[in-house]
Amino acid sequence: MNYTIKEIADITNSEIIGNGEIKIKNIAFDSRTIYSTKHTAFLAINTKKNSGQKYIDSVIEKGIETIITENQIDNSSINQIITKNSVEFLQTLAKYHFENSNINSIGITGSNGKTILKEWLYQCLANEFVTVKSPKSFNSQIGLPLSLLQIEKKHELGIFEVGISKPEEMKNQENIFHPNIGLLTHIGTAHSANFSSEEELIYEKLKLFKNSEIIFYNADNLLTVKIINQLYSSKKLISYGLEISNDIHIISDVNDRTQDIQIKYFDEIITLPIFQRDEATLTNVLALLGILKELKISNSDIKEKIDALKAIEMRLESIEGIRNNLIINDSYNLDLDSLKIAFQFIGEYNKPKKSLILTDILDSSENSQELYAEVSELVNEQKFDKVFLIGEEISAFYEFFKSETFTFNNTNQFIDSKIINEIENQVILLKGARKFEIEKIKEILELRKHDTVLEINLNAILHNINFHKSLLKPETKMMAMVKANAYGLGSYEISEFLQLHHIDYLGVAFADEGVELRKKGITTPIIVMNPEQHSYDAVIEYNLEPEIYSLRVLELFNEQLIKSGNQQKYPIHIKLETGMHRLGFKDFELDELNEKLNTMNVKVQSIFSHLSSSDVPEEKEFTLSQIKTFEKNSNYLINQLGYKPLRHILNSAGISNYSDYQYDMVRIGIGMIGESSNKKIKKQLQDSVSFKTVVSQISEVKYGESVGYSRKFKAEHDIKIATIPVGYADGIPRMVGNNVGNVGINKKLCPIVGNVCMDMMMINVDNANVKEGDSVVIFNSHPTLEEFSKYCNTITYEVLTSISPRVKRIYIKN
Ligand SMILES: *Cc1c(COP(=O)(O)O)cnc(C)c1O
Repeated sequence: MNYTIKEIADITNSEIIGNGEIKIKNIAFDSRTIYSTKHTAFLAINTKKNSGQKYIDSVIEKGIETIITENQIDNSSINQIITKNSVEFLQTLAKYHFENSNINSIGITGSNGKTILKEWLYQCLANEFVTVKSPKSFNSQIGLPLSLLQIEKKHELGIFEVGISKPEEMKNQENIFHPNIGLLTHIGTAHSANFSSEEELIYEKLKLFKNSEIIFYNADNLLTVKIINQLYSSKKLISYGLEISNDIHIISDVNDRTQDIQIKYFDEIITLPIFQRDEATLTNVLALLGILKELKISNSDIKEKIDALKAIEMRLESIEGIRNNLIINDSYNLDLDSLKIAFQFIGEYNKPKKSLILTDILDSSENSQELYAEVSELVNEQKFDKVFLIGEEISAFYEFFKSETFTFNNTNQFIDSKIINEIENQVILLKGARKFEIEKIKEILELRKHDTVLEINLNAILHNINFHKSLLKPETKMMAMVKANAYGLGSYEISEFLQLHHIDYLGVAFADEGVELRKKGITTPIIVMNPEQHSYDAVIEYNLEPEIYSLRVLELFNEQLIKSGNQQKYPIHIKLETGMHRLGFKDFELDELNEKLNTMNVKVQSIFSHLSSSDVPEEKEFTLSQIKTFEKNSNYLINQLGYKPLRHILNSAGISNYSDYQYDMVRIGIGMIGESSNKKIKKQLQDSVSFKTVVSQISEVKYGESVGYSRKFKAEHDIKIATIPVGYADGIPRMVGNNVGNVGINKKLCPIVGNVCMDMMMINVDNANVKEGDSVVIFNSHPTLEEFSKYCNTITYEVLTSISPRVKRIYIKN
């Protein structure tokens, strides 16, 4: 967008205070991710959950000069647009902007797959049309308008995802955005608590296509088929999905991995190389194919484009670098949008200085003078200490850059200069087009090169949290359990990420886990599930909130509270025993509990209990009896207390299976990692951890020779063995040796042979095409974490929490 303040006020019928001639190109609503203050207006969004008003001071401090607000502020140096309703303001502006653009548009809605399909479509179409898309998964009542405002004159195609969480919202969304092409993805059976039935949900979603000419829809859901034909029989409807009745479906055997996938597209047969063959991926490929055909992409181009998707790794990784630098590596793609996203991202790190390594921006249809003027303007605002330009094109515009700037013709020249050795204690952002192979720079800067890593995808965790939220009422709070080093993933890193995404509570097992989080700057409320007696002083000193599970603990904690000189009502959490028989108050103790509470300077922040079997369908009756006891005893206590603490009982499986009993808060754990024993739920979650290593050596073992300690494996014919640098000291149980477990190498499962050693184990790779240095998956793809846990004869929780701290954790964010 590009409007003056006055134009914006006219479009949205708002008042102006200050200078109306200022141009606005961006609207920011999140004070944490402002990457540019020039031409940016901050919109203080007021919703039921949050008010942007309280961030106004901090954005002004960052340099924002224009704000859009419902309440005028007292500051004459700031331009203000005064609106009656911040959300409606945004929607009105977006509607005007969209309707005055000349763009061909694709609108994607459904329960799952919106974001991945949008990203795939973008990957496939951005070279054919100048394309704009929703950033990340911006699809809400606020996200959609913000996405639409990204449309510029040059754009020919827009791909936007549209989400709803409540009835009636889609009418609103359609009012501002009317896509030419509609795409309805999979509709999940687990619908949000706000819809009374699946039918209601489908009706609502389909409203988006009121003005579309053509609709692609996943027709594996019969209810969808029925409703879409009722509503839109006069439109061009194209069905896709795994059922053979669909216009686009698969005809080959997907389990036969020797064959490519054959797809029937009306009367045509199209063969595509697709490696990942889970239902969701295959269904998404069918939708993608349909739209590419509709946009007249040739079959050979489609094949090439879909094949290239395999390589998608759209992500930013952060790695500890040498000389105490932090390396943010994004060497996948480079365009203006991804540059903006990277700039938002580096703002989140606390290092005093930052530097940028940036290459030519390839395959852009823009005039290079204009492009680099825009790039440099953005770069200049970030105030980098040093800027390193790699590539002849960008180097030609050297003068545009205001930081201390160095130029190089190519990556090797940059490496040879050794100039990077002068940087220490900074964030270094590596941003390059693929051709420049700047990952070579990353390798030089990396502190420790680890062959064995536990890779944690933070975006997958966010997806999983949001998925669980979609099963709950919007006002239900969420506590994330980050005990035991956040199930082995890294308690600080996970907590920091969750705090950024406004998790309501964090849960740890012991006080020292909470103390560590506080020391590193986590300010979210933290509940300590098992506050040990010796740690009460630390609990109080670090403002942690204890679980009180017995009269003894209450007395002892109160003594410490008095000693500490505490003046305020200290927040505590009361645990009720309802059938788990671990910790908690029983019904006959409640009167005494209440009497004691009345004499103490404490406030019961919440009352909760824990379900023992929410993941066991056969124990439904027992689970309901636990809930009933909780309902009764918590009510009893609340009546006596005379105020209403939060109540909570559901863990992850509870959220999926018993969402009717969500009370005021839920406690998510394994679900955020992407695991669930409920298959339907598991399908909708994303894997967030993978444990990987590489092959150290390959040996030929002759008939009769043995492998490993105690000669437990003897070759029955000549075979090839790979040694990998992971053993029981890394947390791999010794029992997975001797052909019990497998690892994945080049997409094949290969058995672990002989005894597992302390730091190594040997793999039979006779059936896999393997060389030294090849990557090895311990879990999570092939095998999955669940499969690996079965080899270990245990549950996913134990496998994760057993991974040794010496295994390097790497965190990935999109
Ligand atoms: C660990 C824990 C949870 C989370 O359990 P998941 O099964 O991982 O969801 C919830 N509540 C309490 C009290 C816990 O200790």
